[in-house]
Amino acid sequence: MDDTERCPCSSGDTYGACCGPLHRGERTAPTAEALMRSRYSAFAFGDTAYLRDTWHADTRPRSLELDPHQEWRGLDILATRAGGPFDDAGEVEFVARFRDTASRERGRLHEVSRFVRSDRRWSYVDGDVAP
Ligand SMILES: [Zn+2]
Repeated sequence: MDDTERCPCSSGDTYGACCGPLHRGERTAPTAEALMRSRYSAFAFGDTAYLRDTWHADTRPRSLELDPHQEWRGLDILATRAGGPFDDAGEVEFVARFRDTASRERGRLHEVSRFVRSDRRWSYVDGDVAP
């Protein structure tokens, strides 16, 4: 994706001012929300290397295969708890919208994700899917 295009995470920023530098390893996410957004964008791109890289070692799946028919259509952050630059844990509640390109059905994933920070890097631990 070009840095001047709109970032897939629905932040309203360009990719170059949002998730791009995180995906390229030029900088790390300052907050749990920033990491959450960059992981959503990585899902949208099918960037499994980034997803594994930002997954906590204790909960990281051995292999990760994404559904090629799942097209991510937008992200809404509903709430955050801690997860700031001076915290070492945090939660992000979000709704991610998707469409199945095979069945053409639309869906939404409502989840509260947990993140921890160590060595100045945020990582995704796990999450609870809300009904
Ligand atoms: Zn973004």
